[in-house]
Amino acid sequence: STSCARSLGLVRLHRTGAHLRVLFVASELPPLVKTGGLADVAGTLPLALEKLGEEVVVFLPGYKNIAVENGKKKKVGDGISTTTIGRNIPVYFIENDELYHRNGLYGDSGGDYPDNLERFQFFCWKILKVLKQLKIPVDIVHCHDWQTGLLPAYLKSVYHADPFFQRTKSVMTIHNLAYQGVFPKAGFSKLGLDKKLFSAEGFEFYDQINFLKGGIIFSDSVTTVSPQYAKEIKMVKFGCGLEGVLQHHKSDVVGILNGLDYATWNPETDPLIAEQFSAEHIHKKYRNKQKLQEQSSLPVKESVPIFCYVGRLVHQKGFDLLADAIEELMKMDLQLVILGVGEEKYHTLLNRLIVQYPNKIAGHLEFSESMAHQVYAGSDLFLMPSWYEPCGLSQMISLRYGAIPVAHKTGGLADTIVPFDFSKRQGNGFLFEDYLVEDLVAAVKNAVSVYHDKDIFHQLITNAMKLRFAWDDSAKQYQKVFKRCLALG
Ligand code: ADP
Repeated sequence: STSCARSLGLVRLHRTGAHLRVLFVASELPPLVKTGGLADVAGTLPLALEKLGEEVVVFLPGYKNIAVENGKKKKVGDGISTTTIGRNIPVYFIENDELYHRNGLYGDSGGDYPDNLERFQFFCWKILKVLKQLKIPVDIVHCHDWQTGLLPAYLKSVYHADPFFQRTKSVMTIHNLAYQGVFPKAGFSKLGLDKKLFSAEGFEFYDQINFLKGGIIFSDSVTTVSPQYAKEIKMVKFGCGLEGVLQHHKSDVVGILNGLDYATWNPETDPLIAEQFSAEHIHKKYRNKQKLQEQSSLPVKESVPIFCYVGRLVHQKGFDLLADAIEELMKMDLQLVILGVGEEKYHTLLNRLIVQYPNKIAGHLEFSESMAHQVYAGSDLFLMPSWYEPCGLSQMISLRYGAIPVAHKTGGLADTIVPFDFSKRQGNGFLFEDYLVEDLVAAVKNAVSVYHDKDIFHQLITNAMKLRFAWDDSAKQYQKVFKRCLALG
């Protein structure tokens, strides 16, 4: 009954004192399921919050390819099974073979699945049902990206008067604003929401349904993955049509940088590189440079700087800018190693350039975890000209491996890379402000000249390798956001 549920909530609060119960809802979670950057956050943040003493419960769609060991996944109800991660974090899977037993998560080679609206509607709807059924009251529903965008709206409308969710607040975290979950308006009647919510103040977006827009509007707080990206998405240039909604949200968009998994990315212990090295023994990095030059069929020369690019070969990552700059870069005394897969036209271009400049460009046009480690370890400099970058992981990795970033000053790149200051010997990289070929080329030129000042470049590598972007710090900032949400009452 109503009063019973309310007192359940109160009892729990008295019993547990200050700690929060956070429901973490994402559509990916490694090592169970992963396609991109979101997965890195989803896999680490629950564990970091648990370490800080919070109670975390995770919900995921019960995809076909979930890598749970046999016997470790238990059925706990109709269409719901569970396993555990971290010390004691229950992960619940919303099962529905018709919706989730497919080869891809969101689509296949034919494009997005045509029933993604139904697939993620069912997911969000069922989560709230299961919470009630299993009597798991939560303080915070932490939503990630458009797949979870219906949850804040369900809490604010369908469950508005339900005492079970009386204290529950929702937080929407945006990992990449370009992906919004947009569907034809005919599907609105399937969402279980009042027709009124298909409006400019709700889910309507140019006469279509926009899951992320609704998620932003109905959540109590919005965060994204870097302070600079939090500012940028409120501007037309990077707002993807949602800048107005973000500007007018009742709480300001908070930017919280992702952390890096320093256990995996540690040049002192990395088993995938030719020789392990540390900030104190940077000279050992050169064995890795040699190895990379050999693997890339480039002349083995210590004095020539190697620039590398590790990432998807797409416009978002600034590959169009790099492609336009390559002829200019080839006039300089440098080597360029590219590890990535992406758009067909860039594969074609690179295959041509590799033949044209065999002593200067090498392409590893594949996705290879082990090659990535060797490329970061063996390179002197790291190119990241992203057009926009919500947070970016690879520049954090390159810093840890002493490959000095040369990057476009945007999003998380602006927050993690500090331009080198010669007089103070501080900073860790090079940034260019305008997204222009000549600015990228000028930044590379500058980096090459600094590279030849051995003493200064040594200082840069030391600064870079000592930096840490810790998940514990990020988790503490999320905690603050959660507490502020709850204090708002
Ligand atoms: P995004 O998630 O937008 O692609 P990030 O910089 O946040 O970009 O993360 C990219 C991650 O994927 C990094 O860990 C990077 O090392 C890795 N990666 C990208 N391309 C490749 C590749 N071809 N082979 C191996 N690792 C790759």
